[in-house]
Amino acid sequence: MAGLVLKNVFKSYGATQVIKDINLDVQDGEFVVFVGPSGCGKSTLLRMIAGLEVISGGTIQIGDHIVNEVAPAKRGVSMVFQTYALYPHMTVFNNMAFGLKQAKTAKSEINKRVKAAAEILDITNLLKRTPRALSGGQRQRVAIGRAIVREPEVFLFDEPLSNLDATLRVQTRVEILKLHERLGSTMIYVTHDQVEAMTLADKIVVLRDGSVEQIGAPTELYDFPQNIFVAEFIGSPKMNFFKKADLSERVQATFSDDHILGVRPEHLLPCKKVESWVAGKLDLIENLGEYVLVHFITKTNISFIAKMSRDSSLKAGQNVFFKAENSDMHYFDRRTNIRI
Ligand code: ADP
Repeated sequence: MAGLVLKNVFKSYGATQVIKDINLDVQDGEFVVFVGPSGCGKSTLLRMIAGLEVISGGTIQIGDHIVNEVAPAKRGVSMVFQTYALYPHMTVFNNMAFGLKQAKTAKSEINKRVKAAAEILDITNLLKRTPRALSGGQRQRVAIGRAIVREPEVFLFDEPLSNLDATLRVQTRVEILKLHERLGSTMIYVTHDQVEAMTLADKIVVLRDGSVEQIGAPTELYDFPQNIFVAEFIGSPKMNFFKKADLSERVQATFSDDHILGVRPEHLLPCKKVESWVAGKLDLIENLGEYVLVHFITKTNISFIAKMSRDSSLKAGQNVFFKAENSDMHYFDRRTNIRI
């Protein structure tokens, strides 16, 4: 096992910089998730760590070694791809054994490792099948098994759950968490899904346009987003944002025009008009069974959402007043979008 250090890592395709000066420390055994919208550079960064993309500048260190010039197979990393990338004509066993055979590992050792990995992933009964005879979830397990048998220093996952249906995605997510607990290996995981990032990560790296927006533990990002981009990206539904003009007259006197107030839907508390920070006319209600998401529109025509209990007797067109705890109010600079 090993940690990982990225120093001033850049990547350009021609004149276009897609990764801009990334610095990152990954501790030995840590589960790190790269998250961000499509095109922000997550996969490119992961592929650079794997050695599948040449880096344009900076250094990548795995354990004690700078690996910039080291071939992918010699870096001590194993990658699991979104598309599984299994050999269709080979059995599950041979798919898992392939890399070890290439590396001229002894047959008995290959047997031992494939069997152990199959057991961990609960696919022992599938070893003789070909990928065609497997479900999507089973194929993804085989792909993970193939990574495990190589006993890498670092596991790299590139959106491994994206091709699975919603139920299987949640199930496999839990399995990956258990796998991490069991193996204790360093894992780097790419996703555009903030829920996956929140549930899996020890540490989340939020990327945007090839740069790091914030690095931190999931709760740190949720409680103290450093800018509006992170505030909006982490949490579902998204954080609501208000300018001075959108707020209740009562609080406008003490609120700067240069600031933006952010409050998450789950932190908006219905209250009396005299205590309110913001008011809205009820537009529509989304019923999610356990709770409802209520959409409002302010007098200034700004939409916002409150997460509320289902038994609240709300009707369309009704005016509702809200407050929030001080600790649940996030202030940002209107010009720089940075947290104040
Ligand atoms: P993500 O994984 O976050 O969706 P990628 O790492 O795949 O993003 O891509 C980052 C950016 O690099 C995108 O704008 C993409 O268009 C660009 N890009 C990726 N590969 C190439 C390439 N071979 N040539 C030019 N641009 C590329």
